Amino acid sequence: MPNMHSKAQHTPQRTCVVCRTPKAVGELISFFVLPQGIVFDPQRRVQRRRNYVCQTPDCLRGLDKWKRNHMKRRLAQASGPIFSPTGTA
Ligand SMILES: [Zn+2]
Repeated sequence: MPNMHSKAQHTPQRTCVVCRTPKAVGELISFFVLPQGIVFDPQRRVQRRRNYVCQTPDCLRGLDKWKRNHMKRRLAQASGPIFSPTGTA
Protein backbone atom coordinates (compact mmCIF):
# COMPACT_ATOMS: atom_id res chain seq x y z
CA MET A 1 0.00 0.00 0.00
CA PRO A 2 1.93 3.02 -1.22
CA ASN A 3 -0.69 5.42 0.06
CA MET A 4 -0.33 4.57 3.71
CA HIS A 5 2.05 7.43 4.20
CA SER A 6 -0.06 10.22 2.83
CA LYS A 7 -2.28 9.91 5.86
CA ALA A 8 0.55 10.72 8.21
CA GLN A 9 0.09 14.42 8.04
CA HIS A 10 1.45 16.61 10.71
CA THR A 11 -1.10 16.48 13.47
CA PRO A 12 -1.61 19.62 15.50
CA GLN A 13 -0.38 19.35 19.03
CA ARG A 14 -1.56 20.87 22.25
CA THR A 15 -0.05 20.90 25.67
CA CYS A 16 -1.74 19.22 28.61
CA VAL A 17 -2.28 21.80 31.34
CA VAL A 18 -1.49 19.29 34.06
CA CYS A 19 1.64 17.46 32.94
CA ARG A 20 2.72 20.02 30.32
CA THR A 21 3.37 17.34 27.75
CA PRO A 22 2.65 18.23 24.13
CA LYS A 23 0.41 15.62 22.55
CA ALA A 24 -1.71 15.21 19.46
CA VAL A 25 -5.05 16.92 19.86
CA GLY A 26 -6.82 13.58 19.43
CA GLU A 27 -5.16 12.23 22.56
CA LEU A 28 -6.33 15.10 24.68
CA ILE A 29 -9.68 16.19 26.00
CA SER A 30 -10.56 19.79 25.38
CA PHE A 31 -12.32 21.83 27.98
CA PHE A 32 -12.92 25.38 29.03
CA VAL A 33 -13.30 27.00 32.37
CA LEU A 34 -16.40 28.80 33.49
CA PRO A 35 -16.86 30.48 36.87
CA GLN A 36 -18.99 27.47 37.77
CA GLY A 37 -16.27 25.02 36.94
CA ILE A 38 -14.75 23.01 34.16
CA VAL A 39 -16.80 22.12 31.12
CA PHE A 40 -15.57 19.36 28.86
CA ASP A 41 -16.17 19.94 25.21
CA PRO A 42 -14.90 16.87 23.36
CA GLN A 43 -16.87 17.77 20.23
CA ARG A 44 -15.24 21.18 20.26
CA ARG A 45 -18.54 22.85 19.45
CA VAL A 46 -18.14 25.92 21.59
CA GLN A 47 -16.02 28.70 20.21
CA ARG A 48 -14.08 29.59 23.26
CA ARG A 49 -10.59 29.64 24.53
CA ARG A 50 -9.84 26.04 25.19
CA ASN A 51 -7.51 24.12 27.37
CA TYR A 52 -6.39 20.56 26.94
CA VAL A 53 -5.78 17.72 29.31
CA CYS A 54 -4.63 14.12 28.85
CA GLN A 55 -7.19 11.35 29.05
CA THR A 56 -5.15 9.59 31.69
CA PRO A 57 -6.60 9.23 35.21
CA ASP A 58 -3.53 10.94 36.63
CA CYS A 59 -4.00 14.09 34.64
CA LEU A 60 -7.75 14.14 35.11
CA ARG A 61 -7.16 13.95 38.83
CA GLY A 62 -4.60 16.71 38.60
CA LEU A 63 -7.08 18.84 36.71
CA ASP A 64 -8.96 19.59 39.90
CA LYS A 65 -5.87 21.09 41.44
CA TRP A 66 -5.08 22.97 38.25
CA LYS A 67 -8.60 24.38 38.25
CA ARG A 68 -8.26 25.65 41.80
CA ASN A 69 -5.00 27.39 40.97
CA HIS A 70 -6.47 28.73 37.79
CA MET A 71 -9.47 30.19 39.66
CA LYS A 72 -7.19 31.67 42.26
CA ARG A 73 -5.13 33.37 39.59
CA ARG A 74 -8.24 34.72 37.92
CA LEU A 75 -9.66 35.90 41.19
CA ALA A 76 -6.41 37.60 42.08
CA GLN A 77 -6.47 39.39 38.75
CA ALA A 78 -10.12 40.33 38.98
CA SER A 79 -9.93 41.60 42.52
CA GLY A 80 -6.65 43.40 42.05
CA PRO A 81 -7.94 46.97 42.27
CA ILE A 82 -10.14 46.22 45.27
CA PHE A 83 -7.26 45.44 47.57
CA SER A 84 -5.13 48.34 48.60
CA PRO A 85 -1.72 47.83 50.15
CA THR A 86 -2.12 47.38 53.88
CA GLY A 87 -1.57 50.37 56.11
CA THR A 88 -1.43 53.05 53.43
CA ALA A 89 -4.93 54.41 53.84
ZN1 LIG B 1 -1.23 15.33 31.00
